[in-house]
Amino acid sequence: MASIFSKIISGEIPSFKIHEDDNFLAFLDINPNALGHTLCIPKKEIDQIFDLDDETLSELIVFSKKVANAIKKAVVCERVGMSVIGLEVPHVHVHLIPINNMDDMSFDTKISMTESQFNETMNKIKSYI
Ligand code: 5GP
Repeated sequence: MASIFSKIISGEIPSFKIHEDDNFLAFLDINPNALGHTLCIPKKEIDQIFDLDDETLSELIVFSKKVANAIKKAVVCERVGMSVIGLEVPHVHVHLIPINNMDDMSFDTKISMTESQFNETMNKIKSYI
């Protein structure tokens, strides 16, 4: 069965898409730690990041770098943190999270955002890609 993220890639499930190429997609996390929290995924559905072939892994990091640099310009923050967990969704994803301190990387603290805030954040980050 297709993962939630494969359904996002196909458009079956809606998302706030930031950037896309033939092999990768970036979109806003629906339950963000912070404004601008973005997920970068390979379109190839693989569960664990270190099972990716070397080329896809390298390209995912370079794709994530491009998105992270746009987030840094769009959102006021000290830096953009990167985390890979994958316990909830078995489809490789890199979390890019605007942070000001260590606690901002904790998945215990969540923010709520309206649809218009998601759209505004998506459009702002997209404008810096
Ligand atoms: P992890 O698997 O790394 O523990 O976390 C999965 C992440 O995917 C969570 O931060 C969660 O909010 C996000 N997520 C789960 N389902 C959806 C969805 O349908 N849409 C979006 N945009 N994010 C999702």
